[in-house]
Amino acid sequence: MAGLKLKHIYKVYQGGVRAVNDFDLEFKDKSFVVLVGPSGCGKSTTLRMIAGLESITSGQLYIDNVLVNDVESKNRDIAMVFQSYALYPHMSVYQNMGFSLKIQHEKSDVIKEKVLKAAEILEISDLLDRKPKELSGGQRQRVALGRAIVREPNVFLLDEPLSNLDAKLRVQMRTEITKLHDKLQTTFVYVTHDQTEAMTMGDMIVVMNKGFIQQADAPVTLFEDPANLFVATFLGSPQMNILECQLVQEKNKIGAVLCGVKDNIVWFKDETAKQIINSKIALDKTYLFGVRPDHISLDEKGIKATVEAVEQLGDETITYVKIEGFPKNVVIKTPLMNKVKVKDEVFINISNERVYLFDKESEHSLIGMPSYNKIPCMVSGKQIKVGSKNVIDLDDEYISHLLNSAFDVDRMLAIKPEYIEFEKTEANVELKVKPVFTDERTNYNIVYASIEGVDPYLVFRAAKDRDIALNKEMSVYLPLDHILINDENDDSHYSREVVYPNVAEAHVSKKDKLTTIAIKGGEKLVYENLDVEEGDYQFVLKQDKAEVIFNRKTAKGIEDALKHAKKGEFLSVSCYDEEPQHKMNTIFAKIKGFDEYVTLTTKNNFSVYKMPKFKIKVPVDALELTKIG
Ligand code: ADP
Ligand code: MG
Repeated sequence: MAGLKLKHIYKVYQGGVRAVNDFDLEFKDKSFVVLVGPSGCGKSTTLRMIAGLESITSGQLYIDNVLVNDVESKNRDIAMVFQSYALYPHMSVYQNMGFSLKIQHEKSDVIKEKVLKAAEILEISDLLDRKPKELSGGQRQRVALGRAIVREPNVFLLDEPLSNLDAKLRVQMRTEITKLHDKLQTTFVYVTHDQTEAMTMGDMIVVMNKGFIQQADAPVTLFEDPANLFVATFLGSPQMNILECQLVQEKNKIGAVLCGVKDNIVWFKDETAKQIINSKIALDKTYLFGVRPDHISLDEKGIKATVEAVEQLGDETITYVKIEGFPKNVVIKTPLMNKVKVKDEVFINISNERVYLFDKESEHSLIGMPSYNKIPCMVSGKQIKVGSKNVIDLDDEYISHLLNSAFDVDRMLAIKPEYIEFEKTEANVELKVKPVFTDERTNYNIVYASIEGVDPYLVFRAAKDRDIALNKEMSVYLPLDHILINDENDDSHYSREVVYPNVAEAHVSKKDKLTTIAIKGGEKLVYENLDVEEGDYQFVLKQDKAEVIFNRKTAKGIEDALKHAKKGEFLSVSCYDEEPQHKMNTIFAKIKGFDEYVTLTTKNNFSVYKMPKFKIKVPVDALELTKIG
């Protein structure tokens, strides 16, 4: 039994393919975690890193709280089941299942006991003497599972184990694997590209796309509150309908005008309207409106539509209709047979209980539960100020994780709704809020609370049995570990796992107009007309002011810059790691004369994995010199 902790894990393959980016999640002990996403999104790579079959480029992997980045695969106490069963054709089922124990020189009576027990769990006791070629696909897959079970691993890793089976067997084996998980009571990490498989099997589903986690949560939560357009359209069948819309406001009501047709309007429910008004999003922009096929009904009144196709599936009906202004069909799923025919004029009624709104550019969800709360704040000294009333005291540990650029500028405090707590602990900080309204979900209620002096609500989850008094001040607690300091516009983080202060010692000397800053044990920087007197200094290189000069393909930029630059404005850098965050990249590097690594930030789309050695230009405002003695 073991839980897994994956902390900011990246995988960059040789040649520069970024297969996995910032995979940062905890898998609870005994949980059934499903990694799902389209082909090439990094599922297998993640699983192979957990297995130890692939190296981790950066980040930390803990199994049962032990750091295992450098632990060999065979010592990780995991077992892996692949899509191809890879059974030994010349061995019997019994020999196949016992093989891994045999090569570990396990005693034959122990092997026998374990194989018989596994065979019983998998109901293949009567097949033990057969050879693989005498088995059906489903039976072979069971043997492959059996081979993993006999090793009694702490963690089971399964990579699309059912892909080779036909549809009917796949459904059957799905249930078998879920039952197996219940029986074995160990952690399962299961990879699939099939959303139905994911939704039916996992306690936690991790939706991935293009190497990034899109969202990770319980299946029902992903379905009810998708964080973005990708998750919304990836899960659910038929897919969620997505239509362009503009927003209109009438007093306290907000409506979505679909596809530019005035009469095709859906009024949001009051809570959603409040949230939209409160978040001050522009009304006149084009947004994406989402509604699942089962939240639309055919009705006497509503939006006018023409039936284009009807699929009767027995217990439910899929109807495809055309509405004005929308080039595609709107898909409707109704639980019973309906009587409409192709070409009928009908009205569709969109239930506003479960509708979605996405930003067209970022594709983030704008209503319901946000993936992050983003609350305006300012970090000054050792405090975060939020609105007019809340001041959060920070400890040195937290401060040491902040980039220089986090301080004394309008920033956003970002925290996921699911991390907000109700009890004070040593690891969290208090925030006073006033709940304004709540919204029900299957697993919890969502609470929308105001914070004095700032506009956006703080959104958090409350267990169904927790009483939340509206319009009364209450305290919630934010774990420091999960508070990010962000940019207002993009999602650049100013708080990182590791941040170095970039301190070295330097000696300043002067000759004519030139000032030379000689970094102790490092290179020299030379400036004209610098207003600093001679002597010994503490030298701080500001993280966000050094310019990384590069040209991705040819590194030509460096040569050009070097040619035209004045001598002595550059430092040589060798990089070991980076943490890309949208428009900002935080890089970690060695510069001669600095004891520790150096943290630098760059706005550029620059990857140190392609160019680990380069130069930085150090303009005057990147220097902070404090005289020693
Ligand atoms: P998935 O299992 O989700 O289909 P993978 O983890 O296999 O995705 O692959 C993620 C990305 O990494 C893909 O772009 C793939 O082409 C690339 N990739 C996988 N293995 C290697 C490798 N050994 N070398 C280089 N690139 C690889
Ligand atoms: Mg794969």
